[in-house]
Amino acid sequence: MPDPEVVAEEADIEKMNDYQLEHRETFSIVQTQFSVVSAAEKDRLKAMISDYLSFRDDITAFLSDYFGDVCTRKCYESRLSACCSREGIIAFFADMAVNVLVSPDEEISLLLAVLRKPNTGFKCIYLGEKGCMWRIKPIVCEMFLCDTAEAEVFGKRPEGRALWEELKKHKQQYLWPDRPVLFDMLEQYFIDAGHSSPLMYFHNSPGLLRVKRSGK
Ligand code: SF4
Repeated sequence: MPDPEVVAEEADIEKMNDYQLEHRETFSIVQTQFSVVSAAEKDRLKAMISDYLSFRDDITAFLSDYFGDVCTRKCYESRLSACCSREGIIAFFADMAVNVLVSPDEEISLLLAVLRKPNTGFKCIYLGEKGCMWRIKPIVCEMFLCDTAEAEVFGKRPEGRALWEELKKHKQQYLWPDRPVLFDMLEQYFIDAGHSSPLMYFHNSPGLLRVKRSGK
């Protein structure tokens, strides 16, 4: 007699598209790996991402100060959430590793649960009732500003544009692999532990591999 839970899971998997499968598999890899490392090792990894988390706090503070009103009015109150379109984001492997590292297990279970449902709408599968379900959302999402919001905000407060450019430059310290960067290191950590994922772009994207090789 087949196990009903296994049958249900197999039925869910059949309904998932490639995007959902890749995300589900990657979250599972990260969760599994973190469940077998020691507390000391987890602390070491948390220390490794602490500078990046401070950077993310800086972005949050900037966005709240400059874009809080306009984004709330234009997107959240109208429920437009135009930034969060269906499968419109690139999530890096390291985005998931960072998010799992800082999130309680229940939050990752919720992400895995939404990934099992077919996404029939036009919005990102992670967009919940209260907004994005990630604790630390993918960097591409965090740094996306729509043209309308940018024009409205920087038109009134032009000094914000320079600050925003600074933040974009700062981001490269973690992502642009012309030198050892956090996002690449986190992938390598999991590769060394025997894992692989299609979201390991620092190890499988021709463009990023070229930057790594040439150093620019
Ligand atoms: S991951 Fe979160 S922020 Fe990014 S598109 Fe989806 S709901 Fe929006």
